[in-house]
Amino acid sequence: MKLLLLGPPASGKGTQASKIAEYLGIPHISTGDIFRENISMKTELGKIVKSYLDNGELVPDEIVTRVVVDKLDKGDYRKGFILDGFPRTIPQAKSFQRNYEFDQVIYIEVDDETVMKRISGRRVCPNCGAVYNVYFNPPRYKGRCDICSQQLITRKDDNPEAAKKRLREYKEKTEPLVEFYDKQNLLRRVNGLKPPEEVFDDIISIINPTTH
Ligand SMILES: [Zn+2]
Repeated sequence: MKLLLLGPPASGKGTQASKIAEYLGIPHISTGDIFRENISMKTELGKIVKSYLDNGELVPDEIVTRVVVDKLDKGDYRKGFILDGFPRTIPQAKSFQRNYEFDQVIYIEVDDETVMKRISGRRVCPNCGAVYNVYFNPPRYKGRCDICSQQLITRKDDNPEAAKKRLREYKEKTEPLVEFYDKQNLLRRVNGLKPPEEVFDDIISIINPTTH
């Protein structure tokens, strides 16, 4: 089973991907991890990637695809794999498709307003790491951690401006993949507004209909 999980930022796709990988007994491949691996092991590709990052430039689509394909070529993925965070753009998807084909693409749908609230409402405790959300899971006392009473903070990536930027980038570059895979009849939609356990069940019943 070769799977892709698609969805906007804060749709929970990373969490779902690792749960599904465990359930199906297939590897969850995180693009970030492969990049770090290549860089730290100073592979040819790693050196190329690093040169872009060092210059503060985006790694070109073709290189990103090569990094992922290289990983898949080298490992044992006969049982399949699950990807999230790649492909992120149409050019990446097209070049990936010349090497590997997904069996299914799961699209976790979450509306913009919820995405914004999930990101910009997030508060974390700098002391114990507890995570809250002022809209969905507020602490008992405003701005204070329930567990250790520490003053909660907003991470830099979670401020409304950063959240808006992430969402805009997603819409411009990644969202077109929904149509791209839909046209190939690979896309299945799940409602990402449901609680995570239900989203998980919905995904499992799509990819594994015989057990449900
Ligand atoms: Zn705390």
